[in-house]
Amino acid sequence: MNPARGRVFLWHTTQYHYIYACMKLSPKSKLPNLETSIFTVMSQMAVKEKAINLSQGFPDFGADPELLDLYREAIADGYNQYAPMGGIFSLREAISEKTAALYGAVYHPEKEITVTAGATQAIYTAIASVVYPGDEVIVFKPAYDCYEPSVVAQGGIPVVLQLKGPDFRIDWDALRHAINPKTRMIMLNSPHNPSGTLLKAKDLLRLQEILRDTDILVLSDEVYEHLVFDHNTHESVCKYQDLKERSFICASFGKTFHVTGWKMGYCLAPEVLMREFRKLHEFVVFAVNHPAQRAIASYLKNPAHYQSLGSFFQRKRDLFLHGIKGSRFRFTPSEGTYFQLLDYSEISKSPDLEYAKTLTVNHGVASIPISVFNVNRADHHQLRFCFAKTDETLKRATEILAAL
Ligand code: PMP
Ligand code: GLN
Repeated sequence: MNPARGRVFLWHTTQYHYIYACMKLSPKSKLPNLETSIFTVMSQMAVKEKAINLSQGFPDFGADPELLDLYREAIADGYNQYAPMGGIFSLREAISEKTAALYGAVYHPEKEITVTAGATQAIYTAIASVVYPGDEVIVFKPAYDCYEPSVVAQGGIPVVLQLKGPDFRIDWDALRHAINPKTRMIMLNSPHNPSGTLLKAKDLLRLQEILRDTDILVLSDEVYEHLVFDHNTHESVCKYQDLKERSFICASFGKTFHVTGWKMGYCLAPEVLMREFRKLHEFVVFAVNHPAQRAIASYLKNPAHYQSLGSFFQRKRDLFLHGIKGSRFRFTPSEGTYFQLLDYSEISKSPDLEYAKTLTVNHGVASIPISVFNVNRADHHQLRFCFAKTDETLKRATEILAAL
């Protein structure tokens, strides 16, 4: 055989072996229907089209130089080896003090607080530690995209309930109806991504009553706890004793301190729940970034760093809303988070996925279509815009939006 044909023959044979091996080894997917996250899709589109990226939720400005200096110092001081499994004590102590000061709730730093690689890991680990195959987990939609896959990966069954009306309120009758002996957990998220609404004290009291005589657990995603506007308060589940006793609370320093890339967060839970959480945490990450923990522990000593966030982002929200005043977008001002929903139905009748694409490609502003987070992908012609951006970015974006 001539050498060139021999090489082609060899290549084909190798390919057949490779394809055969892939078919034989290809595992049954735990998440067969998972699509690329809308955050990735829209951020990639924004980069490709050189559009202003108000889609994925992250700031386009830097963190406080003081925090960055603390990180550099921690590295220079040699904190470059494994941290203790649950997190360094000084950080857990600072989290415990912050939680007590803000919500009057006591969490023991050693037994009830674990530092995690962002809220995403906290959420996954909490779900994985208590949800068994066949367990039902109630998820209110629109919901952040990691909840359902994390439940399905455990063999759990997400039971989805749509939030109702312009204020995205819980349908209490639907909730009562959905609860049954298989219900293992209810997922909450306030301040709420993507709607920017808040759960109020009356909501938590009502939920507390509904759950009182059950063994249903709660996972409360409170990553935007400090981003609350207009004299509203954040109602953490830990303010409600009966809810506290059955809840994992997941939080994110990435959101709080403009360092989403650090992937730092934590979980609060009563000892009996935290014990199970830690058993998985130990084998998911063992421990998280040591110098970042040192930096955040020092930074948290000054409460002004988180107390000022509400007014900081409220000013940004107002700048964004002022910029689109008089436009054909309709909206209710966001009560919390760094997201604002805009209804574009007076401008276009296109489905939201299509309109988000048009806005990015033809007008140069990227956003997030909301239908992907709704039950049955219901489309209410709403887009989510992230206003965690410099004033200059917000001005450029709103000039475009206001002219539509
Ligand atoms: N929950 C919600 C509601 C979020 O918006 C995000 C995005 N940051 C997360 C959890 C994940 O947080 P982290 O980046 O700390 O993993
Ligand atoms: N939390 C961010 C948002 O809602 C996205 C984070 C991510 O891309 N996973 O936009």
